[in-house]
Amino acid sequence: MPDQAIAIFWFRRDLRFEDNAGLYHAMKADLPVLPLFIFDKHILDDLEDKNDARVMFLHDTLSAMHDRLGEKGSSLLIRHGTPQQVWKDILKDYPVKAVYTNHDYEPYARERDETINQLLTKHDIPFRTYKDQVIFEKDEVLTNSGGYYKVFTPYKNAWLSQLSDSLLEPYTSALSFDNWYQTKALGLPSLPDLGFERADIEIPPNRIDEETIDHYDKTRDYPALDGTSRLGIHLRHGTLSIRKLTRKAKEMNQTYLNELIWREFYMQILFHAPQVVDTSFKPKYDRIPWRNDEDEFERWCTGTTGYPIVDAGMRELNKIGYMHNRVRMITASFLTKHLLIDWRWGEAYFAKKLLDYELANNNGGWQWAAGSGVDAQPYFRVFNPYSQADKFDKEEEYIKKWVPEYGTDDYPEPMVDHKEARERAINTYKKALNQ
Ligand code: FAD
Repeated sequence: MPDQAIAIFWFRRDLRFEDNAGLYHAMKADLPVLPLFIFDKHILDDLEDKNDARVMFLHDTLSAMHDRLGEKGSSLLIRHGTPQQVWKDILKDYPVKAVYTNHDYEPYARERDETINQLLTKHDIPFRTYKDQVIFEKDEVLTNSGGYYKVFTPYKNAWLSQLSDSLLEPYTSALSFDNWYQTKALGLPSLPDLGFERADIEIPPNRIDEETIDHYDKTRDYPALDGTSRLGIHLRHGTLSIRKLTRKAKEMNQTYLNELIWREFYMQILFHAPQVVDTSFKPKYDRIPWRNDEDEFERWCTGTTGYPIVDAGMRELNKIGYMHNRVRMITASFLTKHLLIDWRWGEAYFAKKLLDYELANNNGGWQWAAGSGVDAQPYFRVFNPYSQADKFDKEEEYIKKWVPEYGTDDYPEPMVDHKEARERAINTYKKALNQ
């Protein structure tokens, strides 16, 4: 074990040196800082596709960070294992005097951090944690009676009334400090070392495109246009600072800012009501007798339902790991209402495929579509996929891009009749909810 006492900064979903709250606090304190990332076996072992593009993205991001640290005579310490085992090993390998990290709010992450906190406490090592991935966290935006918000608009109004410029101030870049722990270059495991391969999917650039944000309110609903920012994956993994993006949104486009507030709305729901991971936010929705037909689910997954806008969305998702927000709503409504398949099946499929997969938003979006969530669609509002396509893809550009055989004999007939499916959904929901 080296004899120099050190602090560790533990990177998780905050993979950047600039404007990183916890990392800044670690650097500002007086100990040399060794940065750590753990490829968590609990998470990686659950991924079915060994060419998962999200693992490739993480690996590429960490390699680039490793290189930048090399210029400072330091490097990332990268371990692969369960966090508990990795931390036990690290405490044997290094004289750790403090550990810094940023808050993580998902149920699994909270449990993990509690376990590591207990381990560190046993060794008298402080575990210092900071808010970084949101502007407001936990109990910071509450109703007058002290509860959490379950409806978006009053939450948004409270969020906006509490916003101040000081909350958006960037933290000094960690690369401007000199107390990085000087390591002999530590090795970085390759993707195959982790059991993964490169994926044939392009990751959207980590760039705030001002033109897109400027026009966002006018273009965001049209899937054929490049009208949204595509920054989801960067917000998920913290390769982009939320403070930086919020400053831009505030300056340029209120509609875009609202979407960033939706993100925090769903995060605080997950924090206060973690049961939504497995159950409906409104418990009586768990009485719905889902049909759960596996062949029909397969047709939805592969984009062969005979509903062109649904099929276009599913094929976009399968091919590039992305689906436009409007089409996410249409495909989710189709699965839960037209096919009466449990929202949890759809949620799990999206979780497997979306580059920007985020538990809080995905769960929130699915429960919204199924009617079971906070501030959700009323159950009797069933999206009509034809009129949605007519309104938001009038020239059928998006449909033709993703479903080339549309309009030919090769394209399947609709797997269910819209009118019948709609009535079946409403009747099934009504009966279950009025029991
Ligand atoms: P933009 O439209 O440019 O918005 C910028 C950012 O704001 C997004 O990256 C996201 O962080 C946030 N945002 C935008 N819309 C929403 C919203 N409705 N709810 C919460 N946050 C929002 N978003 C995810 O980030 N991960 C998911 O796994 C996810 N699953 C979804 C599942 C369903 C069924 C539905 C209806 C929506 C889901 N969303 C999810 C929300 C939304 O569709 C995506 O955030 C958005 O399409 C991502 O594209 P973008 O980065 O271009 O977003």
